[in-house]
Amino acid sequence: MSVFVSVLSIASSLAAETRRHKEFAAWIASQDQAILGHGFAGFDIADMPWKAETIAADEDFMLSAVRLAMTKTGWERLDYTPPDELIIRRLDHFCLMLQEFRLEHTRAIEEGSIGGNDPVIATCPIHEIYTSQYGCPICHDH
Ligand SMILES: [Zn+2]
Repeated sequence: MSVFVSVLSIASSLAAETRRHKEFAAWIASQDQAILGHGFAGFDIADMPWKAETIAADEDFMLSAVRLAMTKTGWERLDYTPPDELIIRRLDHFCLMLQEFRLEHTRAIEEGSIGGNDPVIATCPIHEIYTSQYGCPICHDH
């Protein structure tokens, strides 16, 4: 599963242009630890940091990141060869879930970061991706 987080972290970091994009990339990076911590087999789209005013643009960004991941862009930054067919199938499925996702499915919307509590977004100097408070998912992914 952390392979999925790693390839999506790379793609979303490469695709990120705005602060908002970087927040999504950092959120994805945080999921390797969340998964380990909770024993989940995956993460829930509904838990992503959606905001009502930007959801259309946020979805577009995530879709372009997933499509970029499906072209195996940046996979050479991993120090192993991922099982491509399996990962691409998962990414494809994730794409479909994103397309079906609607704002009313979200849980995080009310918690938003309104109030100026913007976390600093760091990058991993080795893998050049945006990282979470837990650090870099690829550094953890061995
Ligand atoms: Zn790293």
